[in-house]
Amino acid sequence: TEAHVSAMEAARDLNSFIVETPEKALESAGEADTRRGKGEARPLEGLPLAIKDLFCTKDVQTTAGSRILEDFAPPYESTVTTNLWNDGALMLGKTNLDEFAMGSSNMTSYYGGVENPWKRKGDNRKLVPGGSSGGSATAVAARLALGATGTDTGGSIRQPAAFTGITGMKPTYGRCSRWGIVAFASSLDQAGPMARSVRDCSILLKSMCGHDPKDSTSVNMPVPDFEAALTGDVRGLKVGIPREYRLDGMSEELDRLWQQGIDWLKDAGAEIHDISLPHTQYALPTYYIIAPAEASSNLARYDGVRYGQRGEGYDNLEQMYEATRGAGFGDEVKRRILIGTYVLSAGYYDAYYNKARQVRTLIAQDFTRAYEQVDVILTPTAPSAAFAMGDKMDDPVAMYLNDVFTVPASLAGLPGISLPAGLSSDGLPLGLQLLGRPFDEETVLRSAGVLE
Ligand code: GLN
Repeated sequence: TEAHVSAMEAARDLNSFIVETPEKALESAGEADTRRGKGEARPLEGLPLAIKDLFCTKDVQTTAGSRILEDFAPPYESTVTTNLWNDGALMLGKTNLDEFAMGSSNMTSYYGGVENPWKRKGDNRKLVPGGSSGGSATAVAARLALGATGTDTGGSIRQPAAFTGITGMKPTYGRCSRWGIVAFASSLDQAGPMARSVRDCSILLKSMCGHDPKDSTSVNMPVPDFEAALTGDVRGLKVGIPREYRLDGMSEELDRLWQQGIDWLKDAGAEIHDISLPHTQYALPTYYIIAPAEASSNLARYDGVRYGQRGEGYDNLEQMYEATRGAGFGDEVKRRILIGTYVLSAGYYDAYYNKARQVRTLIAQDFTRAYEQVDVILTPTAPSAAFAMGDKMDDPVAMYLNDVFTVPASLAGLPGISLPAGLSSDGLPLGLQLLGRPFDEETVLRSAGVLE
């Protein structure tokens, strides 16, 4: 813990943390030593973790990357972090993120962008770590934390993991409780681990998930011993390669990386199958209707009355709301609220929101059909390596295109992992993604273990 605390201090330029809690971390580390001494160590005893600042942490500032929650210190702790602390882990601090987890670059945070610790060969420009869990990804990649928590609504664990050369897993929707996680799009939000290896992710995931009566979408199913699934044996495993993910204009090196992944699995005894997920092309537009719709509803609670900051200069209630939300939210959040309220409005509800819900079902059915044939699906995680800070910022659609490989599984609620699989020609990490059947994280992890 001391080593990580010093590393955090030395790496403040990366802006990975919004809040650092070194005193508490060192105190907990001392307690962990005592427990160890008594032979009472719990599974994660003394492991220093970074927590995405979307998880409510009792009495510790929880901003969601937004100005509107700048002074908010929740009086309660999220279920996922409670589970981690109960198993002995300790918190180094709260990591930076895109505001309310809306983004793919970590550039929409009110607390400034996070810098990816990687640099392109021969190019000194600062790169984004991806988003929205970019602070967590950087903390792990730069060795500021042993592991971190992330949340993934449309790729926010997997894409930053790919951009920073680490491993990140989004479990099946319902595995982790959403209680105490600041809500973005409730039918999609899911917590998961970000760490240096598949094994570390398995260990953290086991602690993070489990049934919670406080979240009605949390499933009441036994939590498997995910680490035990890492047998290294994928003989006879059926791996699907979805043809619709072979995008026009996909870079040759990404194609090569994907083929490399296929070859590694084949060499280990897996069977490779061509599969079709015919509605893939509709996933992005569907996601960018459903996620903003839910966000616009979830964010209605920030009204200057119950949470966080209140704006200034108003004469009546309506003006107070306007002043609060006008000053409290950044551009991307406002854009999402506008899209969300538009697609939910009486005149457009059927044309957009209901249509998107129907297409979402078709996308989920594509996967159900595919999993009659195969056990896991292998794809690239993101269409490119990390891009320069500031790029794509004036073009929201170009930014949204980053999520093309990650959102389909989010819409279908499936488990997915991203792991580092190679480097681009200019020396940046590239990730491969494995997707599994609902609640079959074990097969996903086992396959990932072989690709590592
Ligand atoms: N990039 C996607 C978005 O902006 C996903 C974000 C996430 O998973 N939290 O909505």
